[in-house]
Amino acid sequence: MLRMSTLFLRTLREDPADAEVPSHRLLVRAGYVRRVAPGMYTWLPLGLKVLENVARVVREEMDRMGGQEVLFPALLPREHYETSGRWTEYGDLLFRLKDRKGAEYLLAPTHEEMFTTLVKSQCSSYKDLPVVLYQVQTKYRDEARPRAGVLRGREFLMKDSYSFDVDDEGLQTAYEDHRVAYQRIFERLGLDYRIVSAVSGMMGGSASEEFLAPAPTGEDTFVSCTSCDYAANTEAVEVRAAAEQDPAAQPALQVLDTPDTPTIATLVEAVRAQGIDVDASGTLKNVVVLLRYPDGRTEPLVVGVPGDREVDVKRLEANVTPAEVLPADVDAIPGLVKGYIGPQGLSADLRYVVDPLVVRGSAWVTGANEQGKHAANVVRGRDFEPSAVLPAAEVREGDLCSRCGSPLTIARGIEIGHIFQLGRTFADAFGLDVLGRDGKPVRVTMGSYGIGVSRAVAAIAEQSHDDKGLVWPRGVAPADVHVAAVGKGEQGAVAERLAHELEQGGLRVLLDDRGGSPGVAFKDAELLGIPTVLVVGKALADGLVELRDRRSGSSRTVPVAEAVQAVVTEVRATGSVGVTA
Ligand code: ATP
Ligand code: MG
Repeated sequence: MLRMSTLFLRTLREDPADAEVPSHRLLVRAGYVRRVAPGMYTWLPLGLKVLENVARVVREEMDRMGGQEVLFPALLPREHYETSGRWTEYGDLLFRLKDRKGAEYLLAPTHEEMFTTLVKSQCSSYKDLPVVLYQVQTKYRDEARPRAGVLRGREFLMKDSYSFDVDDEGLQTAYEDHRVAYQRIFERLGLDYRIVSAVSGMMGGSASEEFLAPAPTGEDTFVSCTSCDYAANTEAVEVRAAAEQDPAAQPALQVLDTPDTPTIATLVEAVRAQGIDVDASGTLKNVVVLLRYPDGRTEPLVVGVPGDREVDVKRLEANVTPAEVLPADVDAIPGLVKGYIGPQGLSADLRYVVDPLVVRGSAWVTGANEQGKHAANVVRGRDFEPSAVLPAAEVREGDLCSRCGSPLTIARGIEIGHIFQLGRTFADAFGLDVLGRDGKPVRVTMGSYGIGVSRAVAAIAEQSHDDKGLVWPRGVAPADVHVAAVGKGEQGAVAERLAHELEQGGLRVLLDDRGGSPGVAFKDAELLGIPTVLVVGKALADGLVELRDRRSGSSRTVPVAEAVQAVVTEVRATGSVGVTA
Protein backbone atom coordinates (compact mmCIF):
# COMPACT_ATOMS: atom_id res chain seq x y z
CA MET A 1 0.00 0.00 0.00
CA LEU A 2 1.17 3.50 -0.80
CA ARG A 3 0.79 5.74 2.24
CA MET A 4 0.90 9.44 1.64
CA SER A 5 2.27 9.99 5.15
CA THR A 6 5.50 8.27 4.14
CA LEU A 7 5.38 8.35 0.34
CA PHE A 8 8.31 10.18 -1.22
CA LEU A 9 6.06 12.79 -2.73
CA ARG A 10 5.70 16.51 -2.66
CA THR A 11 3.01 18.07 -4.77
CA LEU A 12 3.44 21.65 -5.94
CA ARG A 13 0.76 24.33 -6.03
CA GLU A 14 2.64 26.39 -8.61
CA ASP A 15 3.44 25.50 -12.19
CA PRO A 16 7.14 25.04 -12.93
CA ALA A 17 8.45 28.09 -14.78
CA ASP A 18 9.83 26.15 -17.74
CA ALA A 19 6.68 24.10 -18.45
CA GLU A 20 4.87 25.08 -21.65
CA VAL A 21 2.53 22.12 -22.05
CA PRO A 22 -0.05 20.61 -19.67
CA SER A 23 1.58 17.17 -19.34
CA HIS A 24 4.89 18.69 -18.32
CA ARG A 25 3.24 21.08 -15.88
CA LEU A 26 1.11 18.42 -14.26
CA LEU A 27 3.67 15.60 -14.13
CA VAL A 28 6.03 17.93 -12.29
CA ARG A 29 3.38 19.45 -10.03
CA ALA A 30 1.94 16.05 -9.10
CA GLY A 31 5.40 14.79 -8.19
CA TYR A 32 5.73 12.17 -10.92
CA VAL A 33 8.94 13.46 -12.50
CA ARG A 34 11.61 16.00 -11.67
CA ARG A 35 13.97 17.79 -13.98
CA VAL A 36 17.72 17.25 -13.69
CA ALA A 37 18.85 19.13 -16.80
CA PRO A 38 17.30 19.94 -20.21
CA GLY A 39 15.78 16.72 -21.55
CA MET A 40 16.79 14.70 -18.49
CA TYR A 41 14.28 13.70 -15.86
CA THR A 42 14.15 11.66 -12.68
CA TRP A 43 11.16 9.37 -12.26
CA LEU A 44 9.79 9.64 -8.72
CA PRO A 45 7.86 6.77 -7.07
CA LEU A 46 4.42 7.49 -8.56
CA GLY A 47 5.83 8.38 -11.96
CA LEU A 48 7.91 5.24 -12.06
CA LYS A 49 4.79 3.18 -11.43
CA VAL A 50 3.07 4.74 -14.43
CA LEU A 51 6.18 4.25 -16.57
CA GLU A 52 6.38 0.60 -15.51
CA ASN A 53 2.69 0.08 -16.21
CA VAL A 54 3.17 1.39 -19.72
CA ALA A 55 6.24 -0.81 -20.18
CA ARG A 56 4.34 -3.83 -18.90
CA VAL A 57 1.50 -3.38 -21.38
CA VAL A 58 4.09 -3.01 -24.15
CA ARG A 59 5.91 -6.18 -23.06
CA GLU A 60 2.73 -8.22 -22.75
CA GLU A 61 1.64 -7.34 -26.26
CA MET A 62 5.11 -7.83 -27.73
CA ASP A 63 5.27 -11.26 -26.12
CA ARG A 64 1.78 -12.05 -27.37
CA MET A 65 2.80 -11.32 -30.96
CA GLY A 66 5.79 -13.64 -30.62
CA GLY A 67 8.54 -11.14 -29.82
CA GLN A 68 11.40 -12.22 -27.56
CA GLU A 69 12.94 -9.76 -25.16
CA VAL A 70 16.67 -9.09 -24.97
CA LEU A 71 18.65 -6.22 -23.53
CA PHE A 72 21.63 -4.59 -25.19
CA PRO A 73 24.02 -2.18 -23.55
CA ALA A 74 23.16 1.48 -24.06
CA LEU A 75 26.88 2.18 -24.27
CA LEU A 76 28.24 0.83 -27.54
CA PRO A 77 31.52 0.78 -29.43
CA ARG A 78 31.83 2.94 -32.51
CA GLU A 79 32.61 0.16 -34.98
CA HIS A 80 29.09 -1.10 -35.72
CA TYR A 81 27.82 2.41 -36.36
CA GLU A 82 30.83 3.02 -38.57
CA THR A 83 29.84 -0.04 -40.60
CA SER A 84 26.31 1.27 -41.11
CA GLY A 85 27.49 4.81 -41.79
CA ARG A 86 25.44 6.22 -38.95
CA TRP A 87 28.41 7.27 -36.82
CA THR A 88 28.63 10.16 -39.30
CA GLU A 89 25.03 10.30 -40.52
CA TYR A 90 23.63 10.96 -37.09
CA GLY A 91 25.61 14.19 -36.88
CA ASP A 92 25.04 16.21 -33.74
CA LEU A 93 22.22 13.98 -32.51
CA LEU A 94 24.67 11.33 -31.35
CA PHE A 95 26.27 11.34 -27.90
CA ARG A 96 29.86 10.26 -28.51
CA LEU A 97 32.41 9.52 -25.82
CA LYS A 98 35.83 7.97 -25.21
CA ASP A 99 37.10 5.47 -22.69
CA ARG A 100 40.35 5.83 -20.73
CA LYS A 101 42.32 4.28 -23.59
CA GLY A 102 40.91 6.69 -26.11
CA ALA A 103 38.58 4.18 -27.81
CA GLU A 104 35.38 5.72 -29.11
CA TYR A 105 31.86 4.89 -27.98
CA LEU A 106 28.35 6.17 -28.34
CA LEU A 107 25.20 6.16 -26.27
CA ALA A 108 22.78 4.40 -28.59
CA PRO A 109 19.98 6.47 -30.16
CA THR A 110 18.50 3.22 -31.57
CA HIS A 111 19.92 -0.27 -32.03
CA GLU A 112 19.50 -1.58 -35.61
CA GLU A 113 23.25 -2.24 -35.91
CA MET A 114 23.37 -4.35 -32.77
CA PHE A 115 20.34 -6.50 -33.55
CA THR A 116 21.61 -7.12 -37.06
CA THR A 117 24.99 -8.18 -35.67
CA LEU A 118 23.40 -10.39 -33.04
CA VAL A 119 21.22 -12.22 -35.52
CA LYS A 120 24.15 -12.63 -37.89
CA SER A 121 26.20 -14.23 -35.11
CA GLN A 122 23.51 -16.74 -34.25
CA CYS A 123 21.35 -17.48 -37.29
CA SER A 124 22.73 -19.38 -40.24
CA SER A 125 19.73 -21.00 -41.89
CA TYR A 126 16.27 -20.04 -43.08
CA LYS A 127 15.14 -22.46 -40.35
CA ASP A 128 16.35 -19.95 -37.73
CA LEU A 129 13.94 -17.35 -39.12
CA PRO A 130 11.59 -15.59 -38.86
CA VAL A 131 12.45 -14.00 -35.56
CA VAL A 132 11.27 -10.87 -33.76
CA LEU A 133 13.51 -9.50 -31.01
CA TYR A 134 12.80 -6.53 -28.83
CA GLN A 135 14.09 -4.60 -25.87
CA VAL A 136 12.87 -1.86 -23.56
CA GLN A 137 15.92 0.31 -23.33
CA THR A 138 17.13 3.77 -22.45
CA LYS A 139 18.09 5.73 -25.56
CA TYR A 140 20.16 8.83 -25.93
CA ARG A 141 19.76 11.58 -28.48
CA ASP A 142 21.26 15.00 -28.22
CA GLU A 143 18.04 16.61 -29.43
CA ALA A 144 18.39 20.15 -30.74
CA ARG A 145 15.32 21.16 -28.76
CA PRO A 146 14.56 18.91 -25.81
CA ARG A 147 11.07 19.97 -24.91
CA ALA A 148 7.98 19.55 -22.83
CA GLY A 149 9.41 17.39 -20.07
CA VAL A 150 9.58 13.72 -20.97
CA LEU A 151 7.83 14.28 -24.31
CA ARG A 152 11.15 14.96 -26.00
CA GLY A 153 14.02 13.95 -23.79
CA ARG A 154 17.71 13.54 -24.44
CA GLU A 155 17.52 10.36 -22.39
CA PHE A 156 14.30 8.40 -22.84
CA LEU A 157 12.84 4.94 -22.68
CA MET A 158 11.98 3.20 -25.93
CA LYS A 159 10.70 -0.19 -26.87
CA ASP A 160 12.46 -1.13 -30.06
CA SER A 161 11.90 -4.33 -31.97
CA TYR A 162 13.30 -5.78 -35.14
CA SER A 163 12.01 -8.50 -37.42
CA PHE A 164 14.19 -10.77 -39.54
CA ASP A 165 12.77 -12.65 -42.51
CA VAL A 166 14.03 -14.38 -45.62
CA ASP A 167 11.44 -12.88 -47.97
CA ASP A 168 9.16 -9.90 -48.52
CA GLU A 169 6.02 -11.80 -47.52
CA GLY A 170 7.61 -12.64 -44.19
CA LEU A 171 8.47 -8.98 -43.63
CA GLN A 172 4.94 -7.97 -44.56
CA THR A 173 3.55 -10.40 -41.98
CA ALA A 174 5.91 -9.17 -39.25
CA TYR A 175 4.93 -5.60 -40.09
CA GLU A 176 1.23 -6.34 -39.89
CA ASP A 177 1.67 -8.27 -36.64
CA HIS A 178 3.41 -5.24 -35.16
CA ARG A 179 0.64 -2.98 -36.40
CA VAL A 180 -1.95 -5.11 -34.61
CA ALA A 181 0.17 -5.32 -31.45
CA TYR A 182 0.56 -1.53 -31.47
CA GLN A 183 -3.19 -1.06 -31.85
CA ARG A 184 -3.75 -3.28 -28.82
CA ILE A 185 -1.05 -1.47 -26.84
CA PHE A 186 -2.34 2.03 -27.48
CA GLU A 187 -5.91 0.97 -26.82
CA ARG A 188 -4.91 -0.56 -23.49
CA LEU A 189 -2.99 2.59 -22.63
CA GLY A 190 -6.17 4.57 -23.12
CA LEU A 191 -4.64 6.66 -25.89
CA ASP A 192 -6.56 8.19 -28.74
CA TYR A 193 -4.33 7.62 -31.78
CA ARG A 194 -4.19 7.72 -35.57
CA ILE A 195 -2.10 5.61 -37.90
CA VAL A 196 -0.57 7.81 -40.57
CA SER A 197 1.71 7.17 -43.54
CA ALA A 198 5.21 8.43 -42.96
CA VAL A 199 8.46 8.87 -44.83
CA SER A 200 11.05 6.34 -43.81
CA GLY A 201 13.69 8.92 -42.99
CA MET A 202 17.36 8.21 -42.77
CA MET A 203 17.03 4.46 -42.44
CA GLY A 204 15.81 3.94 -45.99
CA GLY A 205 13.25 1.24 -46.59
CA SER A 206 9.71 1.37 -47.85
CA ALA A 207 6.42 1.00 -45.97
CA SER A 208 6.37 3.19 -42.93
CA GLU A 209 3.61 4.33 -40.62
CA GLU A 210 3.50 6.42 -37.49
CA PHE A 211 1.14 6.19 -34.58
CA LEU A 212 0.21 9.71 -33.55
CA ALA A 213 -1.68 10.77 -30.46
CA PRO A 214 -3.70 13.83 -31.50
CA ALA A 215 -2.90 16.73 -29.18
CA PRO A 216 -2.74 20.46 -29.83
CA THR A 217 0.72 20.54 -28.26
CA GLY A 218 2.13 17.81 -30.52
CA GLU A 219 5.15 18.55 -32.67
CA ASP A 220 3.97 16.50 -35.62
CA THR A 221 1.42 17.73 -38.08
CA PHE A 222 -0.71 15.19 -39.85
CA VAL A 223 -3.21 15.42 -42.59
CA SER A 224 -6.35 13.36 -42.84
CA CYS A 225 -9.08 13.11 -45.39
CA THR A 226 -12.52 14.36 -44.41
CA SER A 227 -14.11 11.54 -46.33
CA CYS A 228 -11.92 8.44 -46.83
CA ASP A 229 -9.53 6.90 -44.28
CA TYR A 230 -6.35 8.35 -45.79
CA ALA A 231 -4.08 9.94 -43.20
CA ALA A 232 -0.41 10.88 -43.49
CA ASN A 233 2.26 12.82 -41.76
CA THR A 234 2.66 16.24 -43.42
CA GLU A 235 6.10 15.17 -44.57
CA ALA A 236 4.70 12.17 -46.41
CA VAL A 237 1.27 13.36 -47.52
CA GLU A 238 0.37 13.19 -51.18
CA VAL A 239 -1.90 15.99 -52.26
CA ARG A 240 -3.95 15.76 -55.43
CA ALA A 241 -2.24 17.81 -58.14
CA ALA A 242 -3.63 19.07 -61.45
CA ALA A 243 -3.66 16.54 -64.29
CA GLU A 244 -0.53 16.21 -66.38
CA GLN A 245 -0.61 17.86 -69.79
CA ASP A 246 1.12 17.45 -73.10
CA PRO A 247 4.14 19.80 -72.90
CA ALA A 248 4.19 20.23 -76.68
CA ALA A 249 0.60 21.50 -76.68
CA GLN A 250 1.40 24.52 -74.47
CA PRO A 251 1.83 28.01 -75.97
CA ALA A 252 5.34 29.24 -76.66
CA LEU A 253 7.53 30.62 -73.89
CA GLN A 254 7.37 34.40 -73.70
CA VAL A 255 9.87 36.67 -71.94
CA LEU A 256 8.32 39.69 -70.18
CA ASP A 257 9.74 42.92 -68.81
CA THR A 258 8.89 42.95 -65.13
CA PRO A 259 11.01 45.53 -63.34
CA ASP A 260 10.30 46.21 -59.66
CA THR A 261 8.45 43.01 -58.90
CA PRO A 262 10.03 41.94 -55.62
CA THR A 263 6.97 39.99 -54.41
CA ILE A 264 4.63 37.46 -55.97
CA ALA A 265 1.77 39.99 -55.64
CA THR A 266 3.64 42.70 -57.58
CA LEU A 267 4.68 40.12 -60.17
CA VAL A 268 1.10 38.95 -60.70
CA GLU A 269 0.00 42.55 -61.14
CA ALA A 270 2.77 43.31 -63.67
CA VAL A 271 2.06 40.20 -65.70
CA ARG A 272 -1.69 40.79 -65.73
CA ALA A 273 -1.04 44.34 -66.95
CA GLN A 274 0.57 42.72 -70.00
CA GLY A 275 -2.63 40.85 -70.80
CA ILE A 276 -1.62 37.47 -69.36
CA ASP A 277 -4.17 35.99 -67.00
CA VAL A 278 -2.34 34.55 -64.00
CA ASP A 279 -2.73 34.41 -60.25
CA ALA A 280 -0.19 33.55 -57.55
CA SER A 281 -0.82 29.82 -57.90
CA GLY A 282 0.19 30.06 -61.56
CA THR A 283 3.60 31.46 -60.75
CA LEU A 284 6.56 29.25 -59.98
CA LYS A 285 8.61 30.36 -57.03
CA ASN A 286 12.20 29.10 -56.94
CA VAL A 287 13.61 29.01 -53.46
CA VAL A 288 17.30 28.42 -52.90
CA VAL A 289 18.38 26.45 -49.84
CA LEU A 290 21.62 24.91 -48.72
CA LEU A 291 21.82 21.19 -48.01
CA ARG A 292 24.34 20.24 -45.38
CA TYR A 293 25.30 16.58 -45.25
CA PRO A 294 26.45 14.85 -42.05
CA ASP A 295 30.05 14.80 -43.28
CA GLY A 296 29.93 18.62 -43.45
CA ARG A 297 29.66 18.90 -47.24
CA THR A 298 27.19 21.52 -48.47
CA GLU A 299 25.32 21.91 -51.75
CA PRO A 300 22.83 24.51 -52.96
CA LEU A 301 19.41 23.21 -53.98
CA VAL A 302 16.81 25.17 -55.93
CA VAL A 303 13.26 24.18 -55.06
CA GLY A 304 10.29 25.05 -57.28
CA VAL A 305 6.89 25.46 -55.62
CA PRO A 306 3.69 27.23 -56.74
CA GLY A 307 3.99 30.93 -55.90
CA ASP A 308 1.05 30.97 -53.53
CA ARG A 309 2.82 28.54 -51.19
CA GLU A 310 5.87 28.63 -48.99
CA VAL A 311 8.50 25.92 -48.88
CA ASP A 312 7.82 23.75 -45.81
CA VAL A 313 11.37 23.24 -44.56
CA LYS A 314 10.48 20.36 -42.24
CA ARG A 315 8.73 18.54 -45.07
CA LEU A 316 11.60 19.12 -47.46
CA GLU A 317 14.11 18.08 -44.82
CA ALA A 318 12.33 14.79 -44.17
CA ASN A 319 12.70 14.04 -47.87
CA VAL A 320 16.40 14.91 -48.16
CA THR A 321 17.48 13.40 -44.84
CA PRO A 322 20.16 12.86 -43.60
CA ALA A 323 20.97 16.26 -45.11
CA GLU A 324 19.89 19.36 -43.18
CA VAL A 325 18.16 22.25 -44.92
CA LEU A 326 19.73 25.64 -44.21
CA PRO A 327 19.11 29.11 -45.61
CA ALA A 328 21.31 29.91 -48.61
CA ASP A 329 23.04 33.12 -49.60
CA VAL A 330 21.81 33.51 -53.17
CA ASP A 331 24.28 36.27 -54.00
CA ALA A 332 27.14 33.90 -53.26
CA ILE A 333 25.97 31.29 -55.77
CA PRO A 334 27.19 31.92 -59.34
CA GLY A 335 24.57 31.82 -62.07
CA LEU A 336 21.61 32.89 -59.96
CA VAL A 337 19.89 36.25 -60.47
CA LYS A 338 18.24 37.02 -57.17
CA GLY A 339 14.51 37.63 -57.53
CA TYR A 340 14.48 36.43 -61.14
CA ILE A 341 15.41 32.77 -60.89
CA GLY A 342 13.79 30.39 -63.37
CA PRO A 343 14.39 26.66 -63.89
CA GLN A 344 14.86 27.04 -67.66
CA GLY A 345 18.52 27.38 -68.53
CA LEU A 346 19.79 26.98 -64.97
CA SER A 347 23.41 25.93 -64.75
CA ALA A 348 23.72 22.16 -64.95
CA ASP A 349 25.80 22.23 -61.74
CA LEU A 350 22.78 23.38 -59.78
CA ARG A 351 20.34 20.78 -58.57
CA TYR A 352 16.76 21.79 -59.31
CA VAL A 353 13.81 19.94 -57.78
CA VAL A 354 10.07 20.60 -57.80
CA ASP A 355 7.16 19.83 -55.54
CA PRO A 356 4.72 17.23 -56.95
CA LEU A 357 2.23 20.08 -57.54
CA VAL A 358 4.46 21.14 -60.43
CA VAL A 359 3.26 18.38 -62.73
CA ARG A 360 4.65 17.42 -66.10
CA GLY A 361 3.33 19.62 -68.86
CA SER A 362 2.27 22.45 -66.53
CA ALA A 363 3.03 26.02 -67.69
CA TRP A 364 4.26 28.71 -65.31
CA VAL A 365 5.16 32.33 -64.93
CA THR A 366 8.63 32.36 -63.43
CA GLY A 367 11.95 34.19 -63.45
CA ALA A 368 13.85 34.57 -66.71
CA ASN A 369 17.31 34.48 -65.07
CA GLU A 370 17.83 38.08 -66.11
CA GLN A 371 17.51 41.22 -64.03
CA GLY A 372 13.98 42.73 -64.38
CA LYS A 373 12.60 39.90 -66.52
CA HIS A 374 10.19 37.02 -66.03
CA ALA A 375 8.92 34.45 -68.47
CA ALA A 376 5.42 33.09 -69.10
CA ASN A 377 4.52 29.60 -70.36
CA VAL A 378 7.60 27.98 -68.93
CA VAL A 379 6.69 24.32 -69.22
CA ARG A 380 7.95 21.34 -67.25
CA GLY A 381 8.96 18.66 -69.71
CA ARG A 382 9.64 21.19 -72.48
CA ASP A 383 11.57 24.14 -71.03
CA PHE A 384 12.97 22.46 -67.96
CA GLU A 385 13.24 19.06 -66.35
CA PRO A 386 13.71 18.79 -62.56
CA SER A 387 16.36 16.40 -61.29
CA ALA A 388 13.84 15.08 -58.76
CA VAL A 389 10.30 15.56 -57.53
CA LEU A 390 10.31 16.12 -53.76
CA PRO A 391 7.45 17.05 -51.44
CA ALA A 392 8.48 20.55 -50.41
CA ALA A 393 5.48 22.90 -50.60
CA GLU A 394 3.41 23.64 -47.54
CA VAL A 395 0.23 21.59 -47.34
CA ARG A 396 -2.97 23.45 -46.54
CA GLU A 397 -6.30 22.74 -44.98
CA GLY A 398 -8.64 22.14 -47.92
CA ASP A 399 -6.02 20.68 -50.25
CA LEU A 400 -7.45 17.62 -51.93
CA CYS A 401 -6.98 13.98 -51.01
CA SER A 402 -4.86 12.09 -53.52
CA ARG A 403 -7.05 9.02 -53.07
CA CYS A 404 -10.59 10.36 -53.25
CA GLY A 405 -10.42 14.06 -54.04
CA SER A 406 -12.18 15.25 -50.87
CA PRO A 407 -10.76 18.11 -48.79
CA LEU A 408 -7.97 17.34 -46.35
CA THR A 409 -7.81 18.59 -42.81
CA ILE A 410 -4.72 19.24 -40.69
CA ALA A 411 -4.16 18.54 -37.00
CA ARG A 412 -1.30 18.14 -34.56
CA GLY A 413 -0.16 15.00 -32.80
CA ILE A 414 2.56 13.36 -30.74
CA GLU A 415 4.47 10.50 -32.36
CA ILE A 416 4.12 7.60 -29.94
CA GLY A 417 5.16 4.80 -32.24
CA HIS A 418 6.67 4.09 -35.61
CA ILE A 419 6.74 0.92 -37.66
CA PHE A 420 8.65 0.49 -40.85
CA GLN A 421 9.98 -1.98 -43.30
CA LEU A 422 13.70 -1.41 -43.41
CA GLY A 423 14.25 -3.96 -46.12
CA ARG A 424 17.85 -4.96 -46.68
CA THR A 425 19.69 -1.72 -45.86
CA PHE A 426 21.24 -3.04 -42.66
CA ALA A 427 21.54 -6.63 -43.86
CA ASP A 428 23.54 -5.27 -46.81
CA ALA A 429 25.80 -3.20 -44.57
CA PHE A 430 26.52 -6.14 -42.27
CA GLY A 431 26.33 -8.94 -44.83
CA LEU A 432 23.48 -10.68 -43.04
CA ASP A 433 22.70 -13.82 -45.07
CA VAL A 434 21.28 -17.19 -44.13
CA LEU A 435 21.22 -20.38 -46.14
CA GLY A 436 17.94 -20.66 -48.02
CA ARG A 437 15.82 -23.70 -48.75
CA ASP A 438 17.83 -24.38 -51.87
CA GLY A 439 21.14 -24.29 -50.00
CA LYS A 440 22.08 -20.90 -51.44
CA PRO A 441 22.62 -17.82 -49.25
CA VAL A 442 19.72 -15.35 -49.07
CA ARG A 443 19.95 -11.80 -47.82
CA VAL A 444 17.73 -11.20 -44.81
CA THR A 445 15.06 -8.51 -44.86
CA MET A 446 14.28 -6.50 -41.74
CA GLY A 447 11.67 -4.34 -40.09
CA SER A 448 12.22 -1.86 -37.30
CA TYR A 449 9.53 -0.82 -34.86
CA GLY A 450 9.62 1.69 -32.00
CA ILE A 451 7.41 2.90 -29.20
CA GLY A 452 8.30 5.86 -27.03
CA VAL A 453 7.57 4.36 -23.62
CA SER A 454 8.45 7.44 -21.56
CA ARG A 455 6.93 9.71 -24.20
CA ALA A 456 3.72 7.68 -23.99
CA VAL A 457 3.38 8.66 -20.31
CA ALA A 458 3.43 12.32 -21.32
CA ALA A 459 1.16 11.71 -24.30
CA ILE A 460 -1.40 10.06 -22.03
CA ALA A 461 -1.17 12.98 -19.62
CA GLU A 462 -1.50 15.38 -22.54
CA GLN A 463 -4.73 13.74 -23.67
CA SER A 464 -6.07 12.93 -20.25
CA HIS A 465 -6.16 15.79 -17.77
CA ASP A 466 -8.32 18.73 -16.74
CA ASP A 467 -7.56 22.05 -15.10
CA LYS A 468 -7.36 20.38 -11.69
CA GLY A 469 -4.87 17.72 -12.54
CA LEU A 470 -4.12 14.40 -14.17
CA VAL A 471 -6.79 11.82 -14.99
CA TRP A 472 -5.10 8.47 -15.55
CA PRO A 473 -6.75 5.82 -17.65
CA ARG A 474 -7.14 2.68 -15.52
CA GLY A 475 -4.56 0.72 -17.44
CA VAL A 476 -1.69 2.97 -16.40
CA ALA A 477 -2.74 4.65 -13.13
CA PRO A 478 -0.21 4.36 -10.30
CA ALA A 479 -2.97 2.89 -8.11
CA ASP A 480 -6.49 1.58 -8.65
CA VAL A 481 -8.03 3.57 -5.83
CA HIS A 482 -7.13 6.62 -3.78
CA VAL A 483 -8.56 6.36 -0.26
CA ALA A 484 -8.67 9.70 1.54
CA ALA A 485 -9.32 9.98 5.27
CA VAL A 486 -10.77 13.42 5.93
CA GLY A 487 -11.66 14.45 9.48
CA LYS A 488 -10.37 14.22 12.98
CA GLY A 489 -12.59 11.43 14.28
CA GLU A 490 -12.67 7.74 13.49
CA GLN A 491 -12.20 8.46 9.76
CA GLY A 492 -8.53 7.56 9.96
CA ALA A 493 -9.16 4.12 11.44
CA VAL A 494 -12.02 3.32 9.06
CA ALA A 495 -10.03 4.45 6.02
CA GLU A 496 -7.14 2.28 7.19
CA ARG A 497 -9.43 -0.75 7.48
CA LEU A 498 -11.07 -0.17 4.09
CA ALA A 499 -7.69 0.30 2.44
CA HIS A 500 -6.54 -3.06 3.79
CA GLU A 501 -9.66 -4.79 2.63
CA LEU A 502 -9.32 -3.26 -0.82
CA GLU A 503 -5.77 -4.47 -1.00
CA GLN A 504 -6.89 -7.92 0.00
CA GLY A 505 -9.43 -7.71 -2.82
CA GLY A 506 -6.48 -7.44 -5.20
CA LEU A 507 -6.47 -3.69 -5.74
CA ARG A 508 -3.50 -1.36 -5.60
CA VAL A 509 -4.28 1.27 -3.01
CA LEU A 510 -2.99 4.73 -2.27
CA LEU A 511 -4.04 5.87 1.20
CA ASP A 512 -4.06 9.50 2.23
CA ASP A 513 -3.41 9.01 5.93
CA ARG A 514 -1.89 12.40 6.57
CA GLY A 515 -4.85 13.70 8.53
CA GLY A 516 -4.52 17.12 6.94
CA SER A 517 -7.22 19.54 5.86
CA PRO A 518 -9.97 18.32 3.53
CA GLY A 519 -9.00 21.03 1.04
CA VAL A 520 -5.46 19.71 0.71
CA ALA A 521 -6.58 16.09 0.51
CA PHE A 522 -9.11 16.81 -2.25
CA LYS A 523 -6.73 19.01 -4.24
CA ASP A 524 -4.03 16.34 -4.14
CA ALA A 525 -6.48 13.60 -5.13
CA GLU A 526 -7.43 15.70 -8.15
CA LEU A 527 -3.84 16.49 -9.03
CA LEU A 528 -2.60 12.88 -8.72
CA GLY A 529 -5.39 11.63 -10.96
CA ILE A 530 -6.07 8.13 -9.67
CA PRO A 531 -9.34 7.14 -11.38
CA THR A 532 -11.38 6.17 -8.31
CA VAL A 533 -11.36 8.13 -5.07
CA LEU A 534 -12.94 6.84 -1.86
CA VAL A 535 -13.51 9.63 0.64
CA VAL A 536 -13.96 8.67 4.29
CA GLY A 537 -15.19 11.99 5.66
CA LYS A 538 -18.06 13.74 7.39
CA ALA A 539 -20.73 11.32 6.14
CA LEU A 540 -19.13 8.59 8.20
CA ALA A 541 -21.30 9.82 11.06
CA ASP A 542 -24.25 8.41 9.06
CA GLY A 543 -22.38 5.24 8.18
CA LEU A 544 -21.60 6.45 4.65
CA VAL A 545 -18.52 7.01 2.53
CA GLU A 546 -18.24 8.83 -0.78
CA LEU A 547 -17.14 7.20 -4.02
CA ARG A 548 -15.83 9.67 -6.61
CA ASP A 549 -15.01 9.18 -10.23
CA ARG A 550 -12.03 11.37 -11.08
CA ARG A 551 -12.79 11.63 -14.78
CA SER A 552 -16.48 12.52 -14.71
CA GLY A 553 -16.34 14.26 -11.35
CA SER A 554 -19.50 12.41 -10.34
CA SER A 555 -19.83 11.01 -6.85
CA ARG A 556 -22.21 8.82 -4.89
CA THR A 557 -22.46 7.76 -1.29
CA VAL A 558 -22.38 4.13 -0.25
CA PRO A 559 -22.76 2.48 3.13
CA VAL A 560 -19.38 1.71 4.72
CA ALA A 561 -20.20 -1.98 4.74
CA GLU A 562 -20.65 -2.00 0.96
CA ALA A 563 -17.76 0.30 0.11
CA VAL A 564 -15.14 -2.34 -0.64
CA GLN A 565 -17.41 -4.30 -2.92
CA ALA A 566 -18.53 -1.13 -4.71
CA VAL A 567 -14.94 -0.08 -5.41
CA VAL A 568 -13.84 -3.55 -6.51
CA THR A 569 -16.80 -3.80 -8.86
CA GLU A 570 -16.11 -0.41 -10.35
CA VAL A 571 -12.41 -1.04 -10.84
CA ARG A 572 -12.94 -4.47 -12.36
CA ALA A 573 -15.67 -3.19 -14.65
CA THR A 574 -13.36 -0.60 -16.15
CA GLY A 575 -10.31 -2.88 -16.31
CA SER A 576 -7.58 -2.65 -13.69
CA VAL A 577 -3.88 -2.73 -14.38
CA GLY A 578 -3.46 -6.16 -12.87
CA VAL A 579 -5.92 -7.62 -15.34
CA THR A 580 -4.62 -8.34 -18.81
CA ALA A 581 -7.06 -7.08 -21.41
P1 ATP B 1 10.71 12.32 -33.52
O1 ATP B 1 10.27 12.53 -34.93
O2 ATP B 1 9.67 12.68 -32.50
O3 ATP B 1 12.05 12.92 -33.22
P2 ATP B 1 11.80 9.86 -34.34
O4 ATP B 1 11.09 9.69 -35.61
O5 ATP B 1 13.19 10.32 -34.33
O6 ATP B 1 10.92 10.78 -33.36
P3 ATP B 1 12.08 7.02 -33.89
O7 ATP B 1 13.51 6.97 -34.21
O8 ATP B 1 11.09 6.49 -34.86
O9 ATP B 1 11.69 8.52 -33.49
O10 ATP B 1 11.88 6.40 -32.43
C1 ATP B 1 10.80 5.56 -32.07
C2 ATP B 1 9.93 6.23 -31.02
O11 ATP B 1 10.68 6.73 -29.92
C3 ATP B 1 9.20 7.44 -31.55
O12 ATP B 1 8.02 7.05 -32.21
C4 ATP B 1 8.91 8.23 -30.28
O13 ATP B 1 7.71 7.77 -29.69
C5 ATP B 1 10.07 7.88 -29.39
N1 ATP B 1 11.05 8.99 -29.31
C6 ATP B 1 11.89 9.41 -30.28
N2 ATP B 1 12.64 10.43 -29.87
C7 ATP B 1 12.28 10.68 -28.59
C8 ATP B 1 12.71 11.62 -27.60
N3 ATP B 1 13.67 12.50 -27.85
N4 ATP B 1 12.12 11.59 -26.37
C9 ATP B 1 11.15 10.69 -26.10
N5 ATP B 1 10.71 9.78 -26.99
C10 ATP B 1 11.26 9.76 -28.22
MG1 MG C 1 9.97 8.23 -36.42
